[in-house]
Amino acid sequence: MSSTDQPQGPLGSLEEWDEFLKARYPEPGRGAKPLVANDPDKKREEFRDYRAEARASVKEFYRLNHTRQTREFVLEKKRQYRSKDRAKMSIWEAMEFLNTLVDDSDPDTDLSQIEHLLQTAEACRRDGRPRWFILTGLVHDLGKILCLWGEPQWAVVGDTFPVGCAFSPKIVFPEFFAGNPDSRAPKYSTRLGIYGEGGGLEQVDMSWGHDEYIYQVLKDYLPEEARYMLRYHSFYPAHLEGEYQYLMNDHDKEMFHWVREFNQYDLYSKSDQRPSVQELRPYYDDLIAEYFPPQLNW
Ligand code: FE
Ligand code: FE
Repeated sequence: MSSTDQPQGPLGSLEEWDEFLKARYPEPGRGAKPLVANDPDKKREEFRDYRAEARASVKEFYRLNHTRQTREFVLEKKRQYRSKDRAKMSIWEAMEFLNTLVDDSDPDTDLSQIEHLLQTAEACRRDGRPRWFILTGLVHDLGKILCLWGEPQWAVVGDTFPVGCAFSPKIVFPEFFAGNPDSRAPKYSTRLGIYGEGGGLEQVDMSWGHDEYIYQVLKDYLPEEARYMLRYHSFYPAHLEGEYQYLMNDHDKEMFHWVREFNQYDLYSKSDQRPSVQELRPYYDDLIAEYFPPQLNW
């Protein structure tokens, strides 16, 4: 079976997308400079590099994502998941559920989903971040259980972007948007599309994926900074490329400070050292109980 024949999508595992992100935005101080908005040193050469080196599976993943994430699709997913009637689970049960995600990753060398979440949270904790920030690190990717509800990879992971207005040319592999019907719809293809200048992100529909889903599930329990971190952590076109400022209001711009602060832990906390789930469990059980009820609607 070729990789594109897999029912969930072309990626061998969801981590292929994370690895591609790290190749695009290398850790500061480790080799190449990160590609950040308005970086005067940003060269076209670097831009071409990661594109040329991207695996065929990653390109195919983005092709599917960019052609199928229409505003209609997003609104349908929002309707579908608003009911939150798929399961009642605690946070830890959701972590264990996510861990059942079967993909091509190697269990001997690759970290489990729980280990990834614990590494992110532990990195926040080591830096003395507030408790809500550490907890957000622990739960930020739980929305990936969308895969277990049968969603294809292109509707679970990938850089997110607004739908209902023009797609930024700074979104990775922008040429694939030519295949998205919205780019030919007059009302959706202008700079502002259906939105108002500076009208705020609350009015904006983002491409559907694990960010929006986990935001919807957990928004009632976390401070606003954490809600922004959950909802926009994959919005690389804005938080690292500086795009879509014209859709944001002043409050969004302030809150994006937290999205960027969080991103360093999301991108760079992975190490080969396996966290001890057993040792860490009591600390995180306390932290979870501080903010969340014993059972949540998913
Ligand atoms: Fe994520
Ligand atoms: Fe993550």
